[in-house]
Amino acid sequence: MSIKDAAEKILSVALPNACAICGRAISPFGMICQSCESDIKRLGPNLTLEKHKDFYLAYYGFYEGILRDLIISYKSGRWRLGKAISKLCINTIEKLIEKPFDVVYIPATLTSLEDRGFDHVKLIAKEISKYFNAHLVKSLYPVIEDKQSGKSGQERKEVKEKYIFRGNIKNKRLILIDDVYTTGTTVRNAIDAIRKVENDLEIYTCVIAKVKKWQR
Ligand SMILES: [Zn+2]
Repeated sequence: MSIKDAAEKILSVALPNACAICGRAISPFGMICQSCESDIKRLGPNLTLEKHKDFYLAYYGFYEGILRDLIISYKSGRWRLGKAISKLCINTIEKLIEKPFDVVYIPATLTSLEDRGFDHVKLIAKEISKYFNAHLVKSLYPVIEDKQSGKSGQERKEVKEKYIFRGNIKNKRLILIDDVYTTGTTVRNAIDAIRKVENDLEIYTCVIAKVKKWQR
């Protein structure tokens, strides 16, 4: 038995670990069990680029079942799932989007940062840019939430996801990363902010999962 195997055996008794999705017992070094991992592999990547008015949408799979469980588990604090989740985006990009490109991401709002303690989409964008050796543009900022005080809950919701872009773009092709694509409002607001500054861009949005129309 190798030292690593022995250590694993001892640790699995001392530090029992469970699959972040199904709860099955796994090695102390893992995050997801093999069964969940192969289930996720079977789901994507979806190989069709969806054409929208001024961007293309690429997504790994639909927001349901195990993919949904994975994303929820990650967002609820298991930041170590970031690597596995990023791989899904990387697979999708490799199949659908030509290089070179810059990478930008939908930033966390202050409230969600406070809730989760980490910027879960930024973590994915970082992994992606590292993998492709692409320039990570850190230039989208949520509109300051202070400006919204004094507004009713409903009004606040409507202006919640607006952005300001201060660009330092190197490529004319840009991939915008987010976790879940629902109605597209967030993405469109971000793209509007980007296009205000940089009009001449080919923009792709890449997400882990897309919500089916009838589920919105
Ligand atoms: Zn599992």
